[in-house]
Amino acid sequence: MNYPDTQLLIDGAWRPARDGRSLPVLNPATGAEIGRVARAGIADLDEALAAADRAFAEWRRSSPLHRSDLMRKAAALLRERAEAIAALMVAEQGKPLAQARIETLAGAEIIEWFAEEARRTYGQVIPARLPGVTQLTVKEPLGPVAAFTPWNFPINQAVRKVSAALAAGCTIIVKAPEETPASPAELVRCFVDAGVPAGVVNLVYGDPAEISSYLIPHPVIRKVSFTGSTAVGKQLAAMAGLHMKPATMELGGHAPVLVFEDADVDAAVAAMAASKLRNAGQVCISPTRFLVQEAVADRFTEGFTAALAAAKVGPGTDPDSAMGPLANERRIPAIERLIRDALDRGARLATGGARIGNEGWFFAPTVLTDVPADAAVMNEEPFGPIAVVNRFRSDDEAFAEANRLPYGLASYAWTGSSARVQRLQDEIQAGMLTINHIGLSLPELPFGGIGDSGMGTEGGSEAIGAYLQTRLVTRKG
Ligand code: NAD
Repeated sequence: MNYPDTQLLIDGAWRPARDGRSLPVLNPATGAEIGRVARAGIADLDEALAAADRAFAEWRRSSPLHRSDLMRKAAALLRERAEAIAALMVAEQGKPLAQARIETLAGAEIIEWFAEEARRTYGQVIPARLPGVTQLTVKEPLGPVAAFTPWNFPINQAVRKVSAALAAGCTIIVKAPEETPASPAELVRCFVDAGVPAGVVNLVYGDPAEISSYLIPHPVIRKVSFTGSTAVGKQLAAMAGLHMKPATMELGGHAPVLVFEDADVDAAVAAMAASKLRNAGQVCISPTRFLVQEAVADRFTEGFTAALAAAKVGPGTDPDSAMGPLANERRIPAIERLIRDALDRGARLATGGARIGNEGWFFAPTVLTDVPADAAVMNEEPFGPIAVVNRFRSDDEAFAEANRLPYGLASYAWTGSSARVQRLQDEIQAGMLTINHIGLSLPELPFGGIGDSGMGTEGGSEAIGAYLQTRLVTRKG
């Protein structure tokens, strides 16, 4: 496979940075440099802003049906090119090829969902109090968007923002991840090749803080969307608020998994082990805090630990790899610190706990049990292949622990009791709750968190609304 250098896309032209600067791209399976990505400077950002502003004047007036047609073409191109794009993603991000392929194909479904949504941005006609008066609302695009997307799902995180923005009639500047630049660039190329006009989508890479602090306050930008850590999300949301710009924030999580004594334990073990291994745990909805009821705790812990210990960790290019390397070198000390801290506080290591080899950034899937609530791993998003498995006695205890953290993104539960299902539905404080199966992330479902996990949703029928504003017109005659 030939890994390309990645360029900026500004006003319809793929090109290097004006000052010629670039950054290295490393393969997480080897640590070796495989290519370069252009590093935008302020001059490039100014050109992208001017392009997004100019293109907005026309794109906002294009018919939703036209936008929808172009987006469908982009989705078809993404499907056609999925195999090659997935291979790029494996080289730069590390995940197993099968996962990269699924992510790319799911991207096409997301584009299609928003292509349909483009045609449903209805306003309202509101019954008037007086004869001869008409009251109506119109939905219109907010304006040029600044979007920031991370390296864990290079296609998925970008496609949600680009598709929603374009469907609504907004233009967009995407600051995609420097660590994994080629696959999101190929996603954007599908929109360009489908005929989306110059300036409607612009793609930059560079210094994330420099770019966000320039774009967010800039008067051209009317909407901000960010996926990443809670700490950075709070900074960017504050900056957006200071300039009165709506912001969608898809941030960190610390998903609890409640396994009750009446659960189908084998089904829970199989589903949750696969879910934990996915993308080496570098997933905002990754299951992390397992709370298992006493009566089934040994059985669940043994089965789950055995499944993680048996998983083959290896390069994403090897079809036998269940889990690839961590996506960047920073994750290794971050995860080692959490494990050391938990063990120092009395936790037990059931499996894993260490880096594998010294080439690339492979880490063993790790299960910690009996972890005290004050351990860092019980409070900070691990964003890696670590699961904590603790026991509980009463349901009240489990609900209290599940809702203890300020995060509220995904949560999981397994039970055979309809009374417990109802209580979970009523009381679990999370943006997404999946019970007795794993059913998150479909384009037609909301995707987003509450509390410190962010604001807004990036899926389902509400998502396009984040890129629209409502105007009221009341008229007589
Ligand atoms: P980080 O907090 O430095 O960066 C997270 C993401 O935000 C990256 O994509 C980065 O480019 C971007 N970013 C950082 N500072 C920024 C700024 N000032 N302006 C704009 N963008 C900025 O950490 P990291 O080492 O890259 O990732 C580790 C942590 O990030 C994880 O622990 C996890 O909590 C979080 N993360 C979350 C998601 C998610 O899907 N919600 C994805 C990736 C990372």
